[in-house]
Amino acid sequence: MEKLVERFIRYARVNTQSDENSKSCPSTPGQIQLAQILVGELQDIGLTDVSMDGNGYVMAGLPANITKNLPVIGFIAHLDTSPDFKADRVNPQIVDHVGKGIVLNPRENIILSPIEFPIVNHYIGQKLITTDGTTLLGADNKAGIAEIVTAMDYLILHPEIKHGPVRIAFTPDEEIGRGADKFDVKKFFAQFAFTVDGGGIGEIEYENFNAAKAKIVIQGLNVHPGTAKNKMKNSMLIAMELNSMLPASEVPEHTEAYEGFYHLTDFSGNVDSTVVNYIIRDHDAKAFDRKKDLMIRIVDHLNMKYGPRTVTLIMVDQYYNMKEKIEPVFHIVELAMKAISARGITPKIIPIRGGTDGSKLSYMGLPCPNLFTGGHNFHSRYEFIPIRSMEKAVEVIVKIVELNAL
Ligand SMILES: [Zn+2]
Repeated sequence: MEKLVERFIRYARVNTQSDENSKSCPSTPGQIQLAQILVGELQDIGLTDVSMDGNGYVMAGLPANITKNLPVIGFIAHLDTSPDFKADRVNPQIVDHVGKGIVLNPRENIILSPIEFPIVNHYIGQKLITTDGTTLLGADNKAGIAEIVTAMDYLILHPEIKHGPVRIAFTPDEEIGRGADKFDVKKFFAQFAFTVDGGGIGEIEYENFNAAKAKIVIQGLNVHPGTAKNKMKNSMLIAMELNSMLPASEVPEHTEAYEGFYHLTDFSGNVDSTVVNYIIRDHDAKAFDRKKDLMIRIVDHLNMKYGPRTVTLIMVDQYYNMKEKIEPVFHIVELAMKAISARGITPKIIPIRGGTDGSKLSYMGLPCPNLFTGGHNFHSRYEFIPIRSMEKAVEVIVKIVELNAL
């Protein structure tokens, strides 16, 4: 397990921050750098068919060591880290958490405080890997990579554990929503897979939002305000009217768990014209359709009131709840829950309030729930991961492979 920590810290030091403004794949050269390191390492530990394709997708296989017809099982993690926070010169620290605030950076007085982040209290007495307070850590998702590599290494070194074929993949640009786009599901050749990209110990996720975005363009009519009576159409006020017809409680700041929302992401305009953008989210497919339907009806109403083509709506679906694709193969969630329980941890099923690469992959024919990495506070300077949680993630991966052969 020493190798696990060493691997994680080594990967974390490579700056693989993705960049939304880049059109290439991967979006940044650091991801290729890490992909190349991984290709060498996967060959060294003895995996087969190790490859990196032209888009930076790394794939490799662990052949079965028994002759029994077993489904091919996959594990997936992503190479990039979030563009949300500084990611160059990541300098991971190993600290003993004794229950007090953890000083990340004494010079700048940056503290991981148990008052601000009570989750850290769950790990008193454990060793945590933290940042030095100036960057993110990148446990999202280098912990996932280190855990998968270490689990494969362990299986190769312990041939007494009988297993079927396993496939692994490391993908670029997950954080900018492109991780699944160029994933070659056929080449990967697994019946089902797990992304190892979740949070705290024991978590397993197989439900995410249905998602759409709506762009609304409002064409007003600008006239001198002194002579505007019965003539002016103020596009900003029409946009505000539109927003006021949406349910006030269905916004991110008033919803949690399985509650969906309309989220106004930006608003820009003047009297003449206004553009507003929303994202629409709901776990439930019917409620999702109702939300989109309401948006259409509001726009129709405003066009009736202010004249045809005053309000234009462009609404497109972005991704869907993977639950629809997981429920028919629910044994894979049960397999993961069994493996988590077998390692002495209570499985926690949590609905994702967002999307994952796994949701897209599930719709591309590769059912793909998400397993915990053990990390917390992703995308921030307060990101941390307990070493014991990482070890448990490795054990769970090994156990899933082992139970799959029974
Ligand atoms: Zn991630």
